[in-house]
Amino acid sequence: MTEQLYQYNSYLQTFDAMVTALDEENRGIALDRTAFYPGGGGQPADRGSLQFEGITYAVTRARKIGDQVFHFLEWELTLPSLGEKVHGQLDWERRYQLMRTHTAMHILCGVIFRDYGASVTGGDMDPLQGRMDFEFETMHKDLVEKIEQAVNREVAAARPVRVDILPREDAFRIPDLIRTKINLLPEGITQVRTVEIVGLDLQADGGTHVANTSEVGHIRVVDYKSKGKINKRIYVSIE
Ligand SMILES: [Zn+2]
Repeated sequence: MTEQLYQYNSYLQTFDAMVTALDEENRGIALDRTAFYPGGGGQPADRGSLQFEGITYAVTRARKIGDQVFHFLEWELTLPSLGEKVHGQLDWERRYQLMRTHTAMHILCGVIFRDYGASVTGGDMDPLQGRMDFEFETMHKDLVEKIEQAVNREVAAARPVRVDILPREDAFRIPDLIRTKINLLPEGITQVRTVEIVGLDLQADGGTHVANTSEVGHIRVVDYKSKGKINKRIYVSIE
């Protein structure tokens, strides 16, 4: 099992760990602990590097397989041995952009639910840009500017972003979490990680976020598309 350090400290950029499993065919290395986000919830996996035996290897992606996080190496070089110590480093510029983007998406969710009662149904992001789908029948062109102003007011409000890990039964009692479809979580999950933009948004979420909305930067609502009568897709970029 890999201890997922990013769940407790999203600002961790480097770490030391031990090799616990190897995927020889795909050049994957599982570690006992990691700061690499393995992807999920619309947030792409981290990139970075692992250093062992004095050589630095690029990690092109990470992925969670079972309860282990595997780190996939770029080059055709010898893999470390089981039990060997490695030093990990994230591509921090990219990861921090993803943290700002992910928090921006939650600001958008929070604002659209608060102001229009519309629920989010999905989303996807890349560094500094993202899209979110809403059940938002009344969305129209004139709202684009209004939404943009409202989300940027939340950036300027410098709201703290709080991460908690709760027992499942406690999380299921929080009304805000029920609306974000927490009931879809698989039965076997005994703990629920929550991300709260204090006073605006609360979601069950495994991703990495900035600690305060002021770190996000200016959010631009770039475009929206109708995906049917009710479903609307909103595109944002971060500047
Ligand atoms: Zn999220």
